[in-house]
Amino acid sequence: MNAKALCWINQVIKPAAEATVSVFDHGLLYGDGIFEGLRFYHGRTFMLEAHLERLELSARAIALELPYSVAHITVAIEQLIEQFDSDTGYLRLVVTRGEGSLGIDPRKCARPALFIIADELSVMDIDDNSQGIKLHIAQTRRLPAQCLDPQIKSLNYLNNILARIEANRAGMDEALMLNLDGYVSEGSVDNIFIVSDGVLRTPRLGDGLLAGVTRAVIIDLARQAGIPCEETSLTLQDLAQAEECFLTGTGAELVPVKQIGERVLAAPDIALTPLLMQRFRARIDEYCG
Ligand code: PMP
Repeated sequence: MNAKALCWINQVIKPAAEATVSVFDHGLLYGDGIFEGLRFYHGRTFMLEAHLERLELSARAIALELPYSVAHITVAIEQLIEQFDSDTGYLRLVVTRGEGSLGIDPRKCARPALFIIADELSVMDIDDNSQGIKLHIAQTRRLPAQCLDPQIKSLNYLNNILARIEANRAGMDEALMLNLDGYVSEGSVDNIFIVSDGVLRTPRLGDGLLAGVTRAVIIDLARQAGIPCEETSLTLQDLAQAEECFLTGTGAELVPVKQIGERVLAAPDIALTPLLMQRFRARIDEYCG
């Protein structure tokens, strides 16, 4: 654990190492809870409204009432950022069903618990993202929406973790998951984009992926830049023919992919990825500057 990490819990901010939750918390016992991850740059959050909106959506979807108002949470976030010893970092907002007796029934928990961690972040453990990462095509399929709506950012990430374990075993950096129909869905913690014939393409939400906040920013930036962009079903064949590929996420930001499965991508003559990376950084500076 990073010694600098802070945690807002029960209305106070303390070193994260000193923050505790009960072993009877249903977030821990059953993964019954939700979370959001967001970044701050230059002391300001990036896309806070979108993340809080998604938090509320996740809460509603699992019949969980947020224990504090969005305004209260916003103030807590501001206080955390102010006390964190760097003006750039990552925030993890977690809401659990709270402490209850053993047994899955959420009615056993009197009050949901909320805590927020501020920390540094390096989600992709690779030395130089600009070189690109290696993407493993996982055997583990993304859970269909009929089983667990991918828009719920729940505390149960085992589906994604199983895919990441496969990637780790294959000596690759990240896992790509297909849906049950064999269409490309998303990475274990990020969304995927490809470029083919000058067109930016990303899986449509109906293919069982989280509507990433970063994904939406990239689509917007592409449209602004006049780059044709499609949200559409993608097959493994599309990946095999892609000229460029990158992943997006709050943790990942925008990370180029240099290898998909066995295939190493050749550097294209005119690459869109660096252009979008540049525009993404400019958007951050504009928003948080
Ligand atoms: N898909 C999954 C499964 C994720 O966990 C994340 C990270 N929140 C993303 C996509 C990317 O979403 P965002 O850009 O909102 O961080």
